Amino acid sequence: MHGMMMHEPLSILEILRYAAGAHPGAEVVSARVEGDVHRESYAELYARAGQLAHALSRLGIAEGDRVATLAWNGHRHVELYYGVSGMGAVCHTINPRLSAEQMLYIIGHAEDRLLFVDLTFVPLVETLADHLPAGLRLVVMTDRAHMPDSPLELMCYEDLLAAAAPDYDWPSLPEETAAALCYTSGTTGNPKGALYTHRSTVLHAMSVTVALAKSLCEGGRILPVVPLFHVNAWGLPYAAPLAGASLVMPGPNLDGASLWDLMEAEKVTSAWGVPTVWFGLTAEIEKRGRPPEGFGQVVVGGSAAPRSMIEGFESAGIEVIHAWGMTEMSPVGTHGLLSAPMRELPFEEQMALKAKQGRRIFGVALKIVDEAGNRLPHDGEAAGELFVRGNTVVSGYFANAEASDAAIDAEGWFGTGDVASIDPDGFLTIQDRTKDLIKSGGEWISSIDLENIAVAHPQVAACAVIAVPHPKWDERPLLVVVPKDASDPPTLDALHEAMRAHVAKWQLPDDMVLVEDLPLTATGKVSKLTLRARFADHALP
Ligand code: ADP
Repeated sequence: MHGMMMHEPLSILEILRYAAGAHPGAEVVSARVEGDVHRESYAELYARAGQLAHALSRLGIAEGDRVATLAWNGHRHVELYYGVSGMGAVCHTINPRLSAEQMLYIIGHAEDRLLFVDLTFVPLVETLADHLPAGLRLVVMTDRAHMPDSPLELMCYEDLLAAAAPDYDWPSLPEETAAALCYTSGTTGNPKGALYTHRSTVLHAMSVTVALAKSLCEGGRILPVVPLFHVNAWGLPYAAPLAGASLVMPGPNLDGASLWDLMEAEKVTSAWGVPTVWFGLTAEIEKRGRPPEGFGQVVVGGSAAPRSMIEGFESAGIEVIHAWGMTEMSPVGTHGLLSAPMRELPFEEQMALKAKQGRRIFGVALKIVDEAGNRLPHDGEAAGELFVRGNTVVSGYFANAEASDAAIDAEGWFGTGDVASIDPDGFLTIQDRTKDLIKSGGEWISSIDLENIAVAHPQVAACAVIAVPHPKWDERPLLVVVPKDASDPPTLDALHEAMRAHVAKWQLPDDMVLVEDLPLTATGKVSKLTLRARFADHALP
C-alpha cells in the first residue's frame, strides 16, 4: 500500500532558497583574488544565482549542458554552483592543478560549453587556448575594472550579471537530474567523471549535516580549505546553508599565516581540508602561541590524518574530526567523532580511536571482502577490500561504459580500492589503498601505519612509505623523509626504534632516503605514484 504524502523532488536550489529565508544572518565571506574581502548573505547569493541563470540562458545554455569552472573558493564560484545546477545545467568543476593534458581531456570529454575562470587562471587558459574546443566560450570571474588584457575573447562575469534581473523562473526538475560533474584525478589512466544528481547532493548534505552537527550548525562559521574543485569542497556549499552556517572562503592564499589571519578576523569555528594543508596552520599556531580565536574543530580527510597531527590539534584545544570518503561518494563516507562512552576513555585511547576513519554516515553501507569476493567479519581483525553502497555513491562513470562496468560488483556495490577493517562497534580503519600496500613475501605491509609512526618523530617534518621492487620478497618498504632540519636529519635506526613497539620486525622499512619535499597530487595528497617511479631502481641494502 502506498502512503499518502506529497512528493517534492529534492532540489539543490531549494537549499539556497531555504537558507535565504530561514537563515538571514548567515553569509558567504570571500577573500577574493582581487585582494579585498567580500560579504554576501544567502538571500543575496540566491538573487545573484538568478541573475546568473538569466545570463546563462541568454548565452544559449540549456538543461543538461555542461558549464565548467576553473576557480578558487569564493562567492562567484558558489553562485555558479547554484545558478548552473538550478537552471538544470551541470556544473563541472575543473581542478587547476591537473596537467594541461588531463585538463584538455576532461574539457573535451565533458563537452563543456562555457568556461568560467578566476583571474589567476587566465594565463593558464591562454596557454591552452590553441587546443580548446572551438565552441568553448570564456567568462572571467571578476568585474570590469579588473578585466585582464588578453589575446582571447573574454566575457566579464559582473557585466553578465549586471545586465540580468534576479527573479529567474527556476524550472521544477526531476530529482535525478544531473547537477554537478567532478573528475577523479586519475592517477592511472584518464580521469573519470562522477556525475552527481540533485537528489544525491541534497541527501549527502542532509546526512553530513546530521553526522557533523557540531560543526555544521546555525551560527557556525566554516572555512573550506578543501577546494570547490575537489568533490564540491566535500559538499560544504550545500551543507552549510542547509545548517544555517556561514562559509568563509579563503581564495588563493592557503599558507599558514594567511589562513590564521582570515580565521582570526572572521571568527571561524571549524575548518576543513586534507592533512597537507594543516602542516602550515599548525606551524603558525605554534609561532603565534595560540590558535585563532573561536577555532574549535578541524575536519581532516582525503588521506589519513597522522596521529601526531591529531594529538597536536587536540592538545591545543581543537577537536579533530577525521573523515574518509572519495569523489565517487559525494564524498563523505565515514567520520571519526567519538561516541559518548569513547569520550570517557583516557586521552591516549581517544587519540588511537581518532586515528581511525570512524563510523559511516546515514545512507552509506559498508562491506569488506576477501580476494574471492567473500564477505569478511566486522571483528576489527579481518582486512579486505572495502565496498560501499547508497544514494550518495556513483552508479557508474559519466560516458565511460568500460570503467562503469569495472566499478560495480555483481551485488551492486562500488569497489573503493581501499583495504580496511571494521570494528564490532562499526569503526572503520583504512589500512591502505590497494595500490599503495606493500606486498612482501606474500604478506601485506600498511604504508599508513609506518608513516603515522615516522611522522611523529621530532626530526621528521613529513614522510611517505612506498614499495620498491625486491628480488626475493617482491616488494619491500622504503621510507622517504623530509627532515625538519636538513643539517640534523633522523637516522634510520632512530625511526626503527620508534616503530619497533608497534609493528613486526619484518615490516620495518629496509632503507630511508632524505628529500627536500614530497610531490603532491592535484588534490594535495602525497603522490606515491611519482615517488615509486622516482625510487623504482633504488638499491636496498
Ligand atoms: P583522488 O585523490 O584520487 O582524486 P579522492 O579524493 O576521491 O580521489 O580520494 C579518495 C581516496 O582517498 C580514498 O579511496 C582513500 O584511499 C583516500 N582517503 C580519503 N580519506 C582518507 C582518510 N581519512 N584516511 C585514509 N585514506 C583516505
